[in-house]
Amino acid sequence: MKRWLEGLVAIAVVGFGLAVGMVWGRSPALVEWERARAVCIQSDDWGLCGFLPDSSAIVALDREALAPGPFPEVYWHSTLEDSAAVASLAGILATHHGRDGLPAVLQPNYILGSLEYASGPDSMATWIEHRLPDVPAGYERPGLWKAVRDARLAGVWHPELHGRWHYDPGRRKANTAGRDAVEAAASRQILVFPDSERSWELGPWRAREELRAELAGNLRIFADLFGREPRSVIAPDYVWNDADEAMWLAHDLRVIQGQRQQRMASWRGLEGRVRKVFHRTLTRWWRRDRVYLDRNCIFEPVQQIDSRGITTAAAAAVREAWARGEPAVLEAHRINFSHLDQRVPDLGRRELDRLLAGLDRDGAIFLVDGEVAGLQRRGTSWAARGTRIVLRNYTHSRRLVVLPAAARAVTARLRGQEPERAGPLVFSLAPGETRIVRGPI
Ligand SMILES: [Zn+2]
Repeated sequence: MKRWLEGLVAIAVVGFGLAVGMVWGRSPALVEWERARAVCIQSDDWGLCGFLPDSSAIVALDREALAPGPFPEVYWHSTLEDSAAVASLAGILATHHGRDGLPAVLQPNYILGSLEYASGPDSMATWIEHRLPDVPAGYERPGLWKAVRDARLAGVWHPELHGRWHYDPGRRKANTAGRDAVEAAASRQILVFPDSERSWELGPWRAREELRAELAGNLRIFADLFGREPRSVIAPDYVWNDADEAMWLAHDLRVIQGQRQQRMASWRGLEGRVRKVFHRTLTRWWRRDRVYLDRNCIFEPVQQIDSRGITTAAAAAVREAWARGEPAVLEAHRINFSHLDQRVPDLGRRELDRLLAGLDRDGAIFLVDGEVAGLQRRGTSWAARGTRIVLRNYTHSRRLVVLPAAARAVTARLRGQEPERAGPLVFSLAPGETRIVRGPI
């Protein structure tokens, strides 16, 4: 075939794929999202012990030697959040309310473990594994977990799962060993290492057994920290494949964030882009045992010069998502709210406050992933939001909503009580009803 004809066929295939994607790429839904005006805020990287523990490590930061791959500039002084960062963010969320009367809620997606590089007595280095709330030297944050608990109690902090390390631990060890400058940085607990940008936690080269064990461990750490299982997951660096999804489903993790940004090693070039469109379209319609939530609004004000413009654009993207008949799912990484330069989180919080004020005026409601997924699939949802249980029926007929025992247990534990009765409860909800149950049930 002639070159130009091949090109024409390729363009036609891509055009058809995009058209299919635009028409069918949206998930099937039982809810009129145009009317619901739902907003969901997904925020990755909480709990991540990196990139630097504190300002004293800046002197040991040799960017050339670490050569991690491209990062946005602001990430170089990213750090683990502290109690003040969580408390001040929670304070802002609590001042904004959806039209259902519930406060704005953030979904921090957590990285649950970290590696500490420690030099031994005879200059033999060792790697020590930490699981939250334990952290490497320099990342101690007094009062952090009390601030997190307070934010959860207020119903503005709804943790979900990001991963264990955010990178392949084997590659980090291999790419650090024998390189003086990198070892020096590691001993200051600087997380960045050569090629870290491509050393994906769920890289397809990693042994499945190892990944399975990590996931099982993640669920235990998560339950110990937050008193419940996660319901939603986002893969670090948006890299995962079907085998990872099967692994999540085996643990009843059925809400998958960020599919639009998904990167698969086998998706390369033009053919890769076409395959991605078809994969996305087909999986949304045929995989009815899970829900994919796309991030359709970007809110990353501290990564841009014109932060105010970012907020204005994010507000417009929310309204556009509603107009298309989608829930607005905002992406807002931890970097906007935790940084060694205090001016960065000050800016991030200020812009979030502005964005939420606009959403209040637009009559938004703030949902967590579990609610969006339930409404999408069944038209009904349940969620433990702080000490409240929230039940919704967004269909046009009376519906039964089954509240699992685990949801009741988590609210009881947050109040410092044991649940009164075991077993699920069934509620009958009128069309369009939102029921907020505050007392112990
Ligand atoms: Zn991340």
